[in-house]
Amino acid sequence: MAQDSKTPRGGHRGIDPSDIAESDLVTTRGTFRMVAFRADGEEHLALVYGRARGRDGVLVRMHSECLSGDVFGALRCECGSQLDLALNAIVREGSGVLVYLRGHEGRGIGLVDKVRTNLLQDERGLDTVDSATALGLPVDVRDYGPAARVLAYLGIGSVRLLSNNPHKIRSLESHGIRVAARVPLLAAPNDENLAYLTAKRDRLGHDLPQVPMVPAPRERAEPEGAAVLDDAAATAPSPLSGTPLTP
Ligand SMILES: [Zn+2]
Repeated sequence: MAQDSKTPRGGHRGIDPSDIAESDLVTTRGTFRMVAFRADGEEHLALVYGRARGRDGVLVRMHSECLSGDVFGALRCECGSQLDLALNAIVREGSGVLVYLRGHEGRGIGLVDKVRTNLLQDERGLDTVDSATALGLPVDVRDYGPAARVLAYLGIGSVRLLSNNPHKIRSLESHGIRVAARVPLLAAPNDENLAYLTAKRDRLGHDLPQVPMVPAPRERAEPEGAAVLDDAAATAPSPLSGTPLTP
């Protein structure tokens, strides 16, 4: 079929024309094309910078909504920093897309349940994984189908994905998004998010070389001469020259 590079036509793999609208968005970083769209009961946003249509290897960030981190500057996660870093990287490159995915709070459990997990983390010392499972909640139920649909609408061939999560690539590819490369997005850790980042690295397999290697409370000691960590010792971390669990 004929490719029309200027006017999107119907049949954008599931985004009905009545569910999508776009305009310019002038920001402190520059002017983006703001593409708002509805999918699966949520309203999402793609911010397009420069020329991306018809290109391969487009720098893309799939950003999961985090109201507390993105809007209010919460330090307990690194979402706000990653949002800033991603937009800066896209502008520096001169083109790229940030897809802002609603309904992704707390890796898909929602805002209220995310706050419940925060409470368990604060009061019982559970990490980001155990605080969800303790409440009978899934660890990650984010759906990237809407992201795939808007990238198809935007005519993006393949992406260079701004992410530290190697598993995200498989999720995106299962929706037909071609991932040419992964580009790290490393936010500096702080005292408030160090435990969170450590759990993301050690329990969720994120590639976070900027996070110092100290034993997480639940880390099982490998036979490398490290002392066995029992519950009491786990509260007093000592340096451990371990290797990341990431394959
Ligand atoms: Zn967050």
